Formats: sequence, C-alpha cells, structure tokens
Amino acid sequence: MTQAKIIDGKAFAEGLRGRVAEVAASFENKAGRKAGLAVVLVGEDPASQVYVRNKGKKTVECGMASFEHLLPVSTSQEDLIALVEKLNDDPAVDGILVQLPLPDHIDEQAVVDRINPNKDVDGLTPVSTGRLALGLPGLVPCTPLGCLMMLKDQLGELSGLDAVVIGRSILVGKPMAQLLLKESCTVTVAHSRTRDLADVVRRADIVVAAVGRPKMVKGDWIKPGAIVIDVGINRLPPEPGTKKGKLVGDVDYEEASHIAGAITPVPGGVGPMTIAVLLRNTIVAAHRNEGLALAGDAI
Ligand code: NDP
Repeated sequence: MTQAKIIDGKAFAEGLRGRVAEVAASFENKAGRKAGLAVVLVGEDPASQVYVRNKGKKTVECGMASFEHLLPVSTSQEDLIALVEKLNDDPAVDGILVQLPLPDHIDEQAVVDRINPNKDVDGLTPVSTGRLALGLPGLVPCTPLGCLMMLKDQLGELSGLDAVVIGRSILVGKPMAQLLLKESCTVTVAHSRTRDLADVVRRADIVVAAVGRPKMVKGDWIKPGAIVIDVGINRLPPEPGTKKGKLVGDVDYEEASHIAGAITPVPGGVGPMTIAVLLRNTIVAAHRNEGLALAGDAI
C-alpha cells in the first residue's frame, strides 16, 4: 500500500516564523521601532482566549510588539469601532486583527470595514478582498495564504493544474480560489449545493477542503497522487473514558493518505500555518507603513 507524503505544517510554520523573525530584526534596525500587532478579542470564550494568548506569545518571540485588547462581551459596536479607529491612528500598530466571531449584537462586517486596509493583516476588508480579486498586491487572509505556501513548496509550479476548493467562505474558500486562479490553476469551487461532489473532487490535482464536516472527503474521491490540503478542524465526540474528543479534518485521513501524493494531517497541518502567516502579514504591513522596501514581499 502506498503512503502519501505527510506535509508537516508545524515544521513549515517554524521555518516561516524564523524568516519573519530575521526580517523583523532588520525592520527594527531600519525603522527604530518594533513592528506591532494588535489583537482585539470581545468576550470570554476560553478557546479564543487561548488562541489570542498564543498569537501574542508568538508575536513577541518573533521580535515584534504585541498589543492585546480583551474586551467584555457587553462591549457595544460603537466602542469596538472607536477602538479600531484608535488602533488605525496608532503608529506603533502595523496590523490589526479583530478575533471573529463577534457577539451577536455586533455587526462583524461593520467593524471589519473600519480597519485601515494598510493594517488589515487578516485580509478581510473590502479593499483587501477587492485587491485580491483584481490580482493586485495586498494583504491576503492567513489560512489560504498558508495553504498556498505549502502547495508551492510541494509542487513548485501550479500553472495548469486542476484545483478543487470545497467551501466558499470569505475567510477560506473564496480567497483560496482567488489565489489558485492567480497561480493559473483551473479552479472549481464546490459548496453545499454542488452535485456529485465526489466526481468533482476526483478530477483534482489539488484538493483544498474547508468545510467543517468531519472526514467528509473519502479516500476514493481522491485522484491518485493528488495533493490534499485539509483546512477543517472538527472535534469528534469523546471516546468512552475520555474527556475530550479527537480533532479530525474534513478529509478521511486514514483512507486518503494511501491515495494522495501528499496530505496535511489534522492537527499539525494547516493549523500551525495560520499564526505564522499572520506574523508574516504583519511584518509585510510594517514595511509598507514605513515606506520601506521588502523585496517582492518575499518571506
Ligand atoms: P464556513 O462554515 O464559513 O464555510 C463552510 C463551507 O463549506 C461553506 O461554503 C459551505 O457551503 C460548505 N459546505 C458545507 N457543507 C457542505 C457539503 N456537504 N458539501 C460541500 N460543501 C459544504 O467555514 P470556514 O470556511 O470558516 O471553515 C471551514 C473549516 O475550516 C472549519 O472546520 C474551520 O474550523 C476550519 N478552519 C481552520 C482554520 C485553520 O487555521 N486551520 C482557519 C479557518 C477555518 P455553503 O456556502 O453552500 O453553505
């Protein structure tokens, strides 16, 4: 039985953070200050708190300044927007990330729309999404950019390959499709209304699954040798005698790993890349904000 190459997202992310740290040190020399990332969290969701703390820790480890704003769940939309405006005007802040989802009483898009596009390290403002659609340089959402980096590392040239992206969210599916199109792939975007999804996936040299349904993509959907990037993070119900269920992706890893050419595991695949790319976007934004050159954004 063949075995796919396992794409080690943890090691890849570590390499990327190392490169970011080098660029951050040279930025500090040139600009006379550290690059800075502000993360805003509204509410006390423990998982989000862990995630934000982890972002802050990794930011500091890379030699950048971290500004954490932890706001109570009762924060009004007005107050949140006022904070975003303050961060827009703060010269020590190069990147602003508002942790989503926000509580129900806040209109997420109304808040995201107020982030200065030059500081939009999550790539979610209309200006950033528009620039991506136009094929212009700009800040791109972290998870799909991380997926693209891993694909390029595996394949080198992507031009002409058939790519299927399952999922069309603003955060992952849509920007992923745009990035692959920019690389001259033939891109199909599948979603909940797609007919014969298995047949659609069977055509793909590249499969990116971003759905949120445990093990939905079966091994016999995969074209032999295809590269499979599994974005999904799903927690299964706990096994008897255990407190927490296992984390699995959207792809049936046990099956697909005998057919794919290379595959990302869950956990340890796409997940670790997201924060590393956030730091990469922050240092890219910092250079732009200071009018400093960064050769082709090549990090
Ligand atoms: P969304 O819920 O926003 O989008 C899910 C997409 O999947 C939708 O476009 C939906 O289609 C599609 N879909 C749902 N059911 C099916 C189906 N049966 N067949 C085909 N398509 C289907 O999720 P996100 O894009 O935000 O996230 C997707 C997954 O990725 C989640 O598991 C999330 O936890 C994970 N994730 C992981 C990250 C990481 O760092 N590794 C970062 C971000 C997300 P439709 O539009 O028609 O409803």
